[in-house]
Amino acid sequence: MHNIERDVVIIGAGPSGMTAAHELKKSGLSVAVIEARDRVGGRTWSDTIDGAWLEIGGQWVSPDQTALIGLLDELGLDTYSRYRDGESIYVAPDGTRTRYTGEMFPVSAETEAAMNKLIDTLDALAAQMDPEKPWEHPAARELDIISFHHWLRTQSTDEEACNNIGLFIAGGMLTKPAHAFSALQAVFMASSAGSFSNLVDDNFILDKRVIGGMQGVSLKLAEKLGADVILNSPARTVRWSEVDGDYRVTVVSDNATVTAKRVVMAVPPNLYSRVSFDPPLPRRQHQMHQHQSLGLVIKVHAVYETPFWRKDGLSGTGFSASSLVQEVYDNTNHEDPRGTLVGFVSDEKADYAFTLTAEQRKKEITASLAQFLGAEAAEPVVYYESDWGSEEWTRGAYASSYDLGGLHRYGPDQLTPVGPIHWSCSDLAAEGYQHVDGAVRMGQFTAAKLLAELK
Ligand SMILES: Cc1cc2nc3c(=O)[nH]c(=O)nc-3n(C[C@H](O)[C@H](O)[C@H](O)COP(=O)(O)OP(=O)(O)OC[C@H]3O[C@@H](n4cnc5c(N)ncnc54)[C@H](O)[C@@H]3O)c2cc1C
Repeated sequence: MHNIERDVVIIGAGPSGMTAAHELKKSGLSVAVIEARDRVGGRTWSDTIDGAWLEIGGQWVSPDQTALIGLLDELGLDTYSRYRDGESIYVAPDGTRTRYTGEMFPVSAETEAAMNKLIDTLDALAAQMDPEKPWEHPAARELDIISFHHWLRTQSTDEEACNNIGLFIAGGMLTKPAHAFSALQAVFMASSAGSFSNLVDDNFILDKRVIGGMQGVSLKLAEKLGADVILNSPARTVRWSEVDGDYRVTVVSDNATVTAKRVVMAVPPNLYSRVSFDPPLPRRQHQMHQHQSLGLVIKVHAVYETPFWRKDGLSGTGFSASSLVQEVYDNTNHEDPRGTLVGFVSDEKADYAFTLTAEQRKKEITASLAQFLGAEAAEPVVYYESDWGSEEWTRGAYASSYDLGGLHRYGPDQLTPVGPIHWSCSDLAAEGYQHVDGAVRMGQFTAAKLLAELK
């Protein structure tokens, strides 16, 4: 057990905590990063499973994610484009499979018109929003007290259009059913990504991947931080006091006790209550954190001897709001002769999938992949499910969002420090919300705040 003294102690070695530590250290402050797991990277994790190299967590980068892109440049990490040549597949609610090109699903003219109208309305609402302050949107309360599911149906009577548009935010991003979060939360998701149209455009939002893996960001930062990163050491207690305006905070973790001037909680909000705070957090924090929860998604990796779908003129991209796998993409690694598909089974479909035995789940999920890309897709040589819901130090994926009404009610206070305690994670980001870019932005923002206070 070490007893150490630093300017700032950071709890959580995900991209947000590691970025904050890096920025603070570059500017001359001393830091320690306390991490519960035996590795850095948090929800980014690149590893070899059964001989296949996989991105188990976060992986894609979009062109607007400039904070992440800047950090990749600084760390000397290169990117490559997702394979997207050829036709995509849409599976309609009646199970019909259609090949198509472009962004619009091959739906009837009426459904297409209804989808375009919903996209325009969501773009207009997102354009009125400052992602730093979604609660200041002119219709914030009105949008926050209705579920996204019901709001869509106030705008359109076309059920297929509502489900398809719902998919981009519900299954696709927040990984909760559209009835479980508000229309304001949906508009915020769009505004954080620049527009709703950006979320519909998979070529934009799922543009590039990092050669060597997204976890490389945290691994490279860990090389720079050296012994300042302490692994296998869950933080258990944050104790603090103030004497003559100076804070003194002590973080007790399994392998180190760190005394510092400030502490950064760089963990998702659903995990704050895993730490005991002394004195206890204020009432508003206690309440707020109970209204923020992670979604649930199974990221399915299926590896084949070759990317066989390309021969058939298919990009590997497929969408269906009604299938078990709702989205599928070619996820073949850089310069890898084998082909990899990645599919997503989200929210209530993930609940269902987890009621099955592992064998039955694989059978149903690969059958769903085959519905998009043909019978060969049902026979991967390597099959793996990223199951972040059962990871003790995450408990869901991809990130957290507020329940109905929570965003406008608590959002204004989500970044308010409590004494020496600051909050930093992708779940609290404005731009890049839920994404690695948001984690990096929050790390940089928190470091800048602390530098202003401490230097
Ligand atoms: C399956 C999946 C797919 C995703 N896909 C993408 C994508 O394609 N593109 C994208 O940009 N984003 C994606 N994301 C989201 C992205 O990975 C996260 O937004 C990002 O990693 C969040 O970073 P963070 O530092 O805020 O939190 P985290 O990465 O969660 O890091 C928090 C760290 O805190 C640690 N911790 C928790 N409690 C304690 C404690 N008490 N003491 C010490 N340590 C603690 C955890 O172990 C963890 O290492 C995906 C996420 C998942 C899970």
